[in-house]
Amino acid sequence: MKRLLITGGCGVIGSHLVDRMLENGCHVTVVDNLTTGKIENIEHNLRNPNFHFLNSTIMNETMMEELIRDCDAIYHLAAAVGVKYIVDDPLSGILTNVKGTEIVLELAYRYWKRVLFASTSEVYGKSEKVPFQEDTERILGSTKVDRWSYSTAKAVDEHLCFAYHSRGLPVSIVRYFNSYGPRIDERGYGSVVAKFISQALNNQDVTVHGDGTQTRCFTYIDDTVQGTLLTGEKDEAIGDVFNIGNNRETSIGELAQMIIRLTGSKSKIVNILYEEAYGDSYEDTRRRVPDINKAKQRLGFEAQTRLEEGLNKTIEWAKENYRF
Ligand code: UDP
Repeated sequence: MKRLLITGGCGVIGSHLVDRMLENGCHVTVVDNLTTGKIENIEHNLRNPNFHFLNSTIMNETMMEELIRDCDAIYHLAAAVGVKYIVDDPLSGILTNVKGTEIVLELAYRYWKRVLFASTSEVYGKSEKVPFQEDTERILGSTKVDRWSYSTAKAVDEHLCFAYHSRGLPVSIVRYFNSYGPRIDERGYGSVVAKFISQALNNQDVTVHGDGTQTRCFTYIDDTVQGTLLTGEKDEAIGDVFNIGNNRETSIGELAQMIIRLTGSKSKIVNILYEEAYGDSYEDTRRRVPDINKAKQRLGFEAQTRLEEGLNKTIEWAKENYRF
């Protein structure tokens, strides 16, 4: 039986990955300090003898050493995530994302364990060269703009992965593109989809930042998990980085309309200034689109779920789980 260590396994992507790996017959240990992860996301697995949960931080090196020594492979998803969190507390974000990954990689190197590192499409920054190929140049703003600290920290992590790989460590990287699905946080931290669904189900104004022409490529959770699994398992992925995303581009204005329609909500769309949402020093990414060819050719990965279908499943879940 394969023994996996999944850091950040109580998050949205992490917990769905846990479900999938348990279904596949693996033994799964999760470390999560429940900062953004939630116990509800893994509660249904707590009685499974093949599942083990530790409410702790990846900064605890002694514990991490034992866990890494005893596993066969690591899926490292623990991170401070979500632009709003990073902007609210940049220092914790940087420390968790850089130090935490350093600990995981160093121990993986010591015990020679395969690592899947969860990175983000945020590393491309405000590059306008869409679709982003994995080796597209990164374009970031000033260090006075906190938002870019997330992109920078994750890029440092990617560099660390490649540096360890050059010493022989089997490591692969995924860059996620706006993953969504059941379990997304209704407070909307880090997910415009969650925020809009919650607003629409409550018949509150749907808050579009700016003019709503900025775009994202929303990727349903099952696709995100499938891409993660393939990157974590295939030999062709070792020493490399892959965009894991759907390439359908949707504007935020369009997303708002679609969610209002699918929920049958009476909500109105209101445009609000970025400064109101994030404070003064904020810059948004205008378009974010993955080039999906590398993942398709090398891993046989392609996102399957259409946006309407994924939103409907997410809305059904939200009706049962959000507060009204
Ligand atoms: N956004 C919005 N209204 C909200 C929350 C987010 O218009 O209430 C916008 C946000 O400014 C960005 C996009 O939706 O342009 C995606 O934001 P999210 O936080 O989901 O993720 P990002 O892709 O920025 O990391």
